[in-house]
Amino acid sequence: MRKVIVAKAAGFCYGVQRAVDMALEARRSSDGKITSLGPIVHNNQVASKLLAEGVEAASDLGSIREGSVILSAHGVPPSTVKQAQSQGLRVLNVTCPFVTRVHRTACQLIDQGYQLLLLGEANHTEVRGIVGAVNGNVTVIGGVEELKSVRLSRKVGIVTQTTQKAEDFAAVVAEISKTVFDLRAFNTICNATDELQQAAIEMAKQVEVAIVVGGKQSANTARLRLICEEAGTPAYHVETAAEIEDSWIAEANTVGVTAGASTPDWLIEEVVKRLNYGQLPSDFKIHHPDESTMTKFFGSTANKGGKELALAA
Ligand code: SF4
Repeated sequence: MRKVIVAKAAGFCYGVQRAVDMALEARRSSDGKITSLGPIVHNNQVASKLLAEGVEAASDLGSIREGSVILSAHGVPPSTVKQAQSQGLRVLNVTCPFVTRVHRTACQLIDQGYQLLLLGEANHTEVRGIVGAVNGNVTVIGGVEELKSVRLSRKVGIVTQTTQKAEDFAAVVAEISKTVFDLRAFNTICNATDELQQAAIEMAKQVEVAIVVGGKQSANTARLRLICEEAGTPAYHVETAAEIEDSWIAEANTVGVTAGASTPDWLIEEVVKRLNYGQLPSDFKIHHPDESTMTKFFGSTANKGGKELALAA
């Protein structure tokens, strides 16, 4: 009999639930057309559910002619907001507050005369937004190796994409500090990311195989798979339960499950059922990454794991 262990924190983070809530609220309070610029979050199944609720998606701003435009939870460059406004569109900016904090910190470092570095993935939406916020006045690096090709000044400031690994950030900061006189380093990784990653490590150490659920374009989901592998456990990244191959789990007595910050509960449940002979274990429960913080400050969490979307057509 196979045992299925779900990571102590998995799935929807605060920023993703907030973006979905704002999109649905906009739909309820407006009869006009609502279009998101790119996916609101990096999850195809969530995008399909939002489409069923009447929230369309477009890949470029020029093709949105009327109504409201929803901008990504991962943030956009200020120029995108201005362009949308100049087209006469109503702008719903669902940028996560943790991403806004990176924009603000990066701008402050530039204002204070620091050479700015950003640890992140150059092509990710969030990174493009941060680069735009400082008018391109930043060098994006993927890790310590890439520092070799960067000429550092006496004053260096560094921020990080919210989904980076804390260890990678620490390694980059340690390397820069060897040569830079005035270094200001801001760890702008969000708590949700860190919580998901720590829970994934803990889970991976208890199982023979790990299944990581989330959009194939989701950077934080891909990172969770890597983290499980680094913990010594073979890990597979799937969007849905249907992608799980029998050969992955045939020999395993223990299988772990975790999910990225844009993965709704219903997809996690389907995966757990697939692994647990068609049913959820009696003690099954999903804890979202921000749950303990939200409960501490507000007495409860508003994170419903996309439950309202699960009911959509
Ligand atoms: S992972 Fe963190 S920064 Fe990104 S949307 Fe979620 S809460 Fe916000």
